[in-house]
Amino acid sequence: MREGILVINAGSSSIKFSLYISNGDEKPLLSCKGQVEGINVAPHFIAKSPHGGVLNEQRWPDQPNMSHEALFKYMIEWIEAQLGDAELKAAGHRVVHGGSQYSQPLLVNDELMEELEKLIPLAPLHQPHNLAPIRALTKVHPGLTQVACFDTAFHRSNPWTAQSFALPRKITGEGVKRYGFHGLSYEFIARQMRQLSPAAARGKVVVCHLGSGASMCAIDGGKSVASTMGFTAVDGLPMGTRTGTMDAGVILYLLQQKGMTPKEIEDLLYKQSGLLGVSGVSNDMRILLESSEPHAAEAVELFVYRISRELGSLAAAMGGLDALVFTAGIGERSPQIRERVCAHAEWLGVEMDQEANQRDSLLISAADSPVSVWVIPTDEEMMIAKHTRELLRSLRD
Ligand code: ADP
Repeated sequence: MREGILVINAGSSSIKFSLYISNGDEKPLLSCKGQVEGINVAPHFIAKSPHGGVLNEQRWPDQPNMSHEALFKYMIEWIEAQLGDAELKAAGHRVVHGGSQYSQPLLVNDELMEELEKLIPLAPLHQPHNLAPIRALTKVHPGLTQVACFDTAFHRSNPWTAQSFALPRKITGEGVKRYGFHGLSYEFIARQMRQLSPAAARGKVVVCHLGSGASMCAIDGGKSVASTMGFTAVDGLPMGTRTGTMDAGVILYLLQQKGMTPKEIEDLLYKQSGLLGVSGVSNDMRILLESSEPHAAEAVELFVYRISRELGSLAAAMGGLDALVFTAGIGERSPQIRERVCAHAEWLGVEMDQEANQRDSLLISAADSPVSVWVIPTDEEMMIAKHTRELLRSLRD
């Protein structure tokens, strides 16, 4: 019997899905993927084949406020029609926050849902949207195995020093600590590294996940030991529209001197800052790299500078560096950013092969570079599919 595994990644304005079909022991194979986007504005469903051909598209111009639930129902019905002779065996969900306690993907049940709801205050912008499709799917398919995969789980191996703020114990005891995010991406890369270069995978690796959200992670012997995102995903590197690390005193200044409200500050930190705020041009790295505006060039310079400083910090956390990996939109596709980061990292033993870098090759370091440098496409959905299948198997055994 062919098995279908559905992966759901839901946010505030979009719900993304990927459907994987596998035969028994084979690895999951992507069958189709798509999303509903523009929720509450102009909902639009689109589904594509693994090669990008459009399989289905739908808009609801008369119902801009169509509910999450109704859109999700449309999506599930369309997906079920694609299963053919395969049976939908399980659904894996990306859940941004697993708190301090969850370091592995978990089978969803009522008890777990209660615990995950308690974490909403730690990720109010994401967690409710991650949990909604789990509930909706439980209604449509009461018996379906569902698995929650956490973006924070991979970082639970961090030592307490990497997880702590220098705040009084009472506050850290309430969960105000560094959790780290993008964990599913880092876990996928760590597994890829084990296949590509077992020696490097046993060593000290820094992965740069540079997408519209950006972070970096130190992975020592396959385990996360430090990362740039902290209590929330606004920490660390400057991103498309997020500030990254900033003196907490700036928030006090904005509150006390500028009279800004918490909501205004949230918008400023999450939506108006980063590459967009500094450049005044765009949050899209492609546009900034092509722009002749001096502020666009400065935004790129600041992005590279901050990556370089974090690289030193993460190498210090591990006491060395054996491999550097670039991934996600900018990391996978921008030779220029990789070249500039590597130029700043020569002191760490990074020597780039310029031609390999221009070709987006898998290995882009010079043959005699003490630190190997890699470009590895990430696939968070595949990581969730693998986790879901592993959990299904463990239930059968
Ligand atoms: P998300 O975090 O939303 O999943 P992605 O990983 O898809 O984002 O990355 C989106 C970012 O990648 C955008 O800032 C986009 O400008 C950048 N990007 C995509 N292609 C290129 C490219 N060829 N050169 C530079 N940046 C690129």
